[in-house]
Amino acid sequence: MPTSLRRLTGRLAVVVLALTAVLVGPAAAQAATPAWPTIGAGMSGANVASAQFLLRHHGQTLTVDGAFSAGTTAATQAFQSANGLTADGVVGALTWSRLVVTLDPGANNNAVRALQTALNKYGYGLTVDGAWGAGTTDAVTDFKTGRGLTGGTTVGATTWQWLLGGGGGGGLYAPIIDRSVLPRSEYDDPHHDYPAIDLPTVTGVTTYAITAGTVGYAGGGCGNGIGITADDGAYYLYCHLSSRVVAAGARVTPGQVVGYTGATGNVTGPHLHLEIRVNGANRCPQQLLLAVYDGAAVPAPSALPATGCFY
Ligand SMILES: [Zn+2]
Repeated sequence: MPTSLRRLTGRLAVVVLALTAVLVGPAAAQAATPAWPTIGAGMSGANVASAQFLLRHHGQTLTVDGAFSAGTTAATQAFQSANGLTADGVVGALTWSRLVVTLDPGANNNAVRALQTALNKYGYGLTVDGAWGAGTTDAVTDFKTGRGLTGGTTVGATTWQWLLGGGGGGGLYAPIIDRSVLPRSEYDDPHHDYPAIDLPTVTGVTTYAITAGTVGYAGGGCGNGIGITADDGAYYLYCHLSSRVVAAGARVTPGQVVGYTGATGNVTGPHLHLEIRVNGANRCPQQLLLAVYDGAAVPAPSALPATGCFY
């Protein structure tokens, strides 16, 4: 390509980029602020860890592990009582509004740890050390700029709401069986033939809805099965249950009991078979289950791989 043409092509590219920025910018700024997440007993994820750090920031004593255990419920209730809120132990909009604090660069406390944990849901990879340095400033600037948020590098209530309410997962998911039932190493095992996972439990283990949704299927075909059409856009299929406690059409919330493990259908022994489908196609559940187990940011089901988890 001649130099003059190459220059022209370069200039055209700049013009196209500028036009794109003009066209995309206002739309991004007009997006609605996401709702505060609601988190409570049995749930896990980054938003739970952020709430735990914020409770500590306000003087509550509790473990920060990303799992909403009895200790977190008790600390939440104590915080709510001290702030004139209904002490239900559930962190919703009103409780978040009291928990979050306005932060600026240079701050060094547990609220910054909550902020760093929330930012990491968006892939910033910050060290959660509570010290707001250059890396945290860069992440906040990038996050706010991308959403048209004002106020410079200050993190106020609106930015908190964007951080905690968006990003997928992070508190909207619960373990499908109690974390004490199986070691972490069982959650990365490949499945035979196609994307799914078999969790080798005994019969009778309490099984929970992994996230909010509607029971779209409760029947045979894979033993006693339950299919949850989830609010995250995925379909979660549980198989081989010994019994079900929800019927088709029921709304379920994360951590709600849906049944008990078993050995019904075509099996050689008791286990919990789980599939995650997006637009009818199976995805590998392992990364999502491991994130829930770890209390880490849960990947969007549509971001899960479709290969590499079966033999
Ligand atoms: Zn299976």
